[in-house]
Amino acid sequence: MHDDLTQCPECGLLQRIPVLPPGGSSVCARCGCVLHRDRPDSLNRTLALTIAGLALFAIANGFPFLSFSMQGQVTQTTLFTGVLELYGQGQWQIAAVVAFTSILAPGLQLTLLLAVLIPLYARRLPSWLPSLFRYVRNLTPWGMMDVFMLGILVSVVKLSEMATILAGPSLFAFAVLIFVLAGAQAALDPDLVWSRVPRGTRAGAPLRAADSIGCEVCELVVARHPAPGAGLRLHCPRCAALLRYRKPESLERTWALVLAAVICYLPANLLPIMTVTSLGRVRSDTILSGVGYLLTHGMWPLAAIVFVASVFVPLLKLLILVYLLISVEVRSGWRPRERTRLYRITETIGRWSMVDVFVVSILAALVRLGNLASVEAQTGAIFFCAVVVLTMLAAMSFDPRLIWDRLGPDLESERALQQGQDHVRDRERGDPGARGADGPSAVRARTG
Ligand SMILES: [Zn+2]
Ligand SMILES: [Zn+2]
Repeated sequence: MHDDLTQCPECGLLQRIPVLPPGGSSVCARCGCVLHRDRPDSLNRTLALTIAGLALFAIANGFPFLSFSMQGQVTQTTLFTGVLELYGQGQWQIAAVVAFTSILAPGLQLTLLLAVLIPLYARRLPSWLPSLFRYVRNLTPWGMMDVFMLGILVSVVKLSEMATILAGPSLFAFAVLIFVLAGAQAALDPDLVWSRVPRGTRAGAPLRAADSIGCEVCELVVARHPAPGAGLRLHCPRCAALLRYRKPESLERTWALVLAAVICYLPANLLPIMTVTSLGRVRSDTILSGVGYLLTHGMWPLAAIVFVASVFVPLLKLLILVYLLISVEVRSGWRPRERTRLYRITETIGRWSMVDVFVVSILAALVRLGNLASVEAQTGAIFFCAVVVLTMLAAMSFDPRLIWDRLGPDLESERALQQGQDHVRDRERGDPGARGADGPSAVRARTG
């Protein structure tokens, strides 16, 4: 990708990535977003971690996870028990979200990644490989094993007074898997795939910044207007993703999703998310009363974590999105860099709100002793789950490049485009030394 034109996914600036020092990274000259990292020995490390991850995934799903013992009665659960139990209680919506985020997405991600890495390791490039890699990238935000682990911690603490909880072998595999998966994601260099895929013809290169369209998946920049006969829908010549100048109807879609999330936010916090039956006593818990329970039992660090993740983060995320939407609608020119950073925050923190949904699922799986002790999910949990998923979708449908589009003509991109074309011309003339491989560039490289 070096010496190629790239488009910053967050501010839309066209720029060229210089050759990076080992372990270095390049950040966008305008908004500060990390564009590319040099990851030494990426293929070997990612492949090793992916294989280890799949083995741990099999152990984590095949063996007992936690066991719950109360007055001589013991129940054993696997990772999937919570999903089955929620489905049995008629809460199929929560069951589907828990199954997807804690089991299906991480499992698929590891399997597809292995399917991508093996041909690369064998130095082959089947035609389906770029599309498959695209799915791996799209699945990443939906894998939430780390949030699930926090859910386990909260559940175990909540049950510690009521019963004895014992860890099964799968819990340890699950804990290690979280780090292995994070390691694989950090070791994976997308350039491993993209640099080996032919980029299509040069004819697709844009002449003006306003004509350029950057691929959201592989970041290749091509001309916006399709060649005659190419059809109206333009696909990336490298990864086959549908090319869009900006995310389609970004403002309308984001407004709709934010509004839907706001509507769900009230019942999510007011209605009970679960009822706990213990020795004949029945107690309903809302999100806030759950936090109160942790507080009154002296577990204030955990209470603080649950409060921040479940009440504060969704509200903050909605407020930030509404602010960004309004600032784009009124064509604000105020601190675009800071607003882009705000957007980056909403994308990273949102998933942690899922912790209470996981707690309900884990408790429902563990506490299944009928009248002696049982936990049932309630309607509040469905609304809460909806708030988390809707705010995640809202953040994904917002296009941060709109913040910068409102600032007027993009002269910096025009300059980068010209430099890129001069560079290509020099190279085609057989004069690669005319401009160093990392010649004029808008990108700053930094090590570490
Ligand atoms: Zn940028
Ligand atoms: Zn692409």
